[in-house]
Amino acid sequence: MATSQRLRRVPVKEHARVQVCVRLRPGVGTGQGQDAPCVRGVDSHSLEILNWRNEMETMKYRFDAFYGEKATQKDIYVGSVQPVLRHLLEGQNASILAYGPTGAGKTHTMLGNPDQPGVIPRALRDLLQMTRNSSGDEWKYSVSMSYLEIYQEKVLDLLEPSLHDLPIREDRNHHILVPGLTQKEITSFSDFESLFLPASANRTVASTKLNQRSSRSHAVLLVWVSQTQGWPPYARRAAKLCLIDLAGSEDNRRTGNKGLRLKESGAINTSLFVLSKVVDALNQGLPRVPYRDSKLTRLLQDSLGGTAHSVIVANIAPEKRYYFDTLTSLNFAAKSKQVVNKPFTQETLPDMAAKRPHEDSRDAEPEAKRLCFEEENQTPLEDKPLSSLIALENLEPAVAQQLLRLEALEKENKRAGSHGPPLLNTPRKERQGLLKQLGETREKLKVLEERQREMEAKAAWNKEHGPAPQLPPKLRKKAVVLPLQKVQTPKKKTQEEDTVTIIQQKRRGRKRKTSILDSENKAPTKWEMALRPDLLARGKENILALLNTGSEKDLTALHQIGKKKARLIVAWRDLHGLFEKVEDLEKIEGVSATQAASFVKANILNSLGNLLN
Ligand code: ADP
Ligand code: MG
Repeated sequence: MATSQRLRRVPVKEHARVQVCVRLRPGVGTGQGQDAPCVRGVDSHSLEILNWRNEMETMKYRFDAFYGEKATQKDIYVGSVQPVLRHLLEGQNASILAYGPTGAGKTHTMLGNPDQPGVIPRALRDLLQMTRNSSGDEWKYSVSMSYLEIYQEKVLDLLEPSLHDLPIREDRNHHILVPGLTQKEITSFSDFESLFLPASANRTVASTKLNQRSSRSHAVLLVWVSQTQGWPPYARRAAKLCLIDLAGSEDNRRTGNKGLRLKESGAINTSLFVLSKVVDALNQGLPRVPYRDSKLTRLLQDSLGGTAHSVIVANIAPEKRYYFDTLTSLNFAAKSKQVVNKPFTQETLPDMAAKRPHEDSRDAEPEAKRLCFEEENQTPLEDKPLSSLIALENLEPAVAQQLLRLEALEKENKRAGSHGPPLLNTPRKERQGLLKQLGETREKLKVLEERQREMEAKAAWNKEHGPAPQLPPKLRKKAVVLPLQKVQTPKKKTQEEDTVTIIQQKRRGRKRKTSILDSENKAPTKWEMALRPDLLARGKENILALLNTGSEKDLTALHQIGKKKARLIVAWRDLHGLFEKVEDLEKIEGVSATQAASFVKANILNSLGNLLN
């Protein structure tokens, strides 16, 4: 049958760019504290968000379109969705995806409500209208739909919920198919509603049973526009529109989910993570697009990129409580489009310190700063909100978030008296843990504050007397690659200096000295190295220099340091400043004293490599 059909092929426009627009929903709540806004629109393409790394800055993002809080459902539809629909009638696929954290307005954008219908009802109404209107030309159209959900990397048929875990296949024309998936023809909008509404209810029923499952699954409405021309054997073409309400993009791991929820987050994060890689690859024109790495992207393979017209609506919320999820969404959406704007003069650290918020008049402060962080009077460190200290250092998001959480907790606790009830609602063990964590955080911040003061004093001195002969080490250094050889200027070797001994451990700790070159001891059970103390000290200095100045990549060159540990080291350094000694590695959470010692042993010889040769 296929042989008798005339297939019209559209030249493939490799990896078409994905149009990205952002929609900011109106604020809810009190507008104070965590409900205070930290994002604002700039123009019809741009928005800015407070930079938590430096409260003197905002970050400006530019997109294909930006829809602010006042934008209507019609604005989004007419501006970003309607223009792609006509391509369906030309036999090209299209997809519209709503992305963003739970509560930011994805379902509102896609589905809406009877008073404010969203993208799905509007698109279906228009599409059905267009196919009817076009009946005069030689192409004849028919429209059909399927509705599915991807939950935990499994495809479930929402029109026939008994069908779950359906496979995804690709035919020889590279069309993606879901064999067994129910597909129903629709000729009118009421046909559509009669199928779609109960199917959506299927999803809602499941959600109440399973921990708001709907925010953890991707809902995909597929609309086929089949076209035939002439008389049998017909010329045919078909186009597919995918309308997707994605799972919430919030990082569920951060909220301490366990068990099923953690598994769900894993699956959501995998497919959203792959989606971001796919969008990235498409928008950068990379040769390989990793569609096959998740069910969602596999399903979208023929509707995202290639000849397809794709639009992502990243939904964001203005409130501070969504700050990090908003940043994640913006970074997902922006990718290469991100521009870091510095609308407020970026001052150097000492000068900035001289104009610390508590010494400034409020009028002199940039408006953006006031959006999120309340001005503080000069107060002892203990009384300052933790967030006011965030700008001191370039903290990792996870650390900053922990600070903000602790701050909220502390505020609540203060409100109820220092030993008050809010914490009493927390299980005892957890409460103790949190209080301990809070104490530790305060201690860390004290150290930071001291260093900051030192720097301020030195900077003031420098300003008056010119640069001091020896500048203090910067709190946060730009990573500089210092090859080990250059860290120490090798002294001229002497015979004595070359003495490295290895000790073979015997039972009960008795040891026997041997030479490193002793060929009789080929297979020792356990070796320990004993270096002359000055060489050991020099080796440690070399390692220390690398720990303090190396980038993540440099650090992975060390034995026992993988990517994860390298990241932890850099994060620790950012938070606490320089390591004083190599053994300080054990201060990093998750690194034991034994591991730190074993790390030194494993690296000491290499660090002396040039001295011993
Ligand atoms: P999500 O699907 O991303 O979890 P929802 O679409 O359910 O978020 O939105 C959360 C709440 O905010 C809903 O009550 C919704 O009606 C409301 N909402 C979202 N976006 C808007 C908007 N642009 N205008 C008015 N209300 C909105
Ligand atoms: Mg939703």
